[in-house]
Amino acid sequence: MQMNEAIEVTKPKIFNGYHTLRHKASNDHWTFKIMTAGPMSRFKGQRIISYLAGPDNRWDYVGIGTIVDEGIKPWKKWIGSSPLRMAEVLWKVAVLGELKDKYDWLLSGHCAKCNKLLTVPESIESGYGPICDGRNSDSTETKELKNKLRAAKELLRRMKDETTANPRGS
Ligand SMILES: [Zn+2]
Repeated sequence: MQMNEAIEVTKPKIFNGYHTLRHKASNDHWTFKIMTAGPMSRFKGQRIISYLAGPDNRWDYVGIGTIVDEGIKPWKKWIGSSPLRMAEVLWKVAVLGELKDKYDWLLSGHCAKCNKLLTVPESIESGYGPICDGRNSDSTETKELKNKLRAAKELLRRMKDETTANPRGS
């Protein structure tokens, strides 16, 4: 049937979602997002590939091209860029099954505790984000507060010692 054939031809070779690529030797990693553009987008219906360009793995993505049957069709300004080069490596690893001795292809999941999106290889493998698995349990603010609390306790202890040593009114 005509329709089935069409479906067969357009079957995605790499699915939508968050894909992380890790270079085994250097442990460097890159995260890519593949999403189908919504009806309000000028790319509507096309599958956009973008790379994670900032610290927030929910929002800091920059589009570099679209996914077509043959591979990645880059947007002009990204031709020759390193994000595009790495996206092409992702295609090779994930679709063609090449370079698997050099790169790991990791599918991002969510933290089992707080449901935050995980895109760092160590987190994807452990199933927990850095805060939830205690790798980086204290934020800067928490550390500061803890230091203040420690200082206050120390001060209180000294005051107590002083009052014990020289009871007021004796
Ligand atoms: Zn978490």
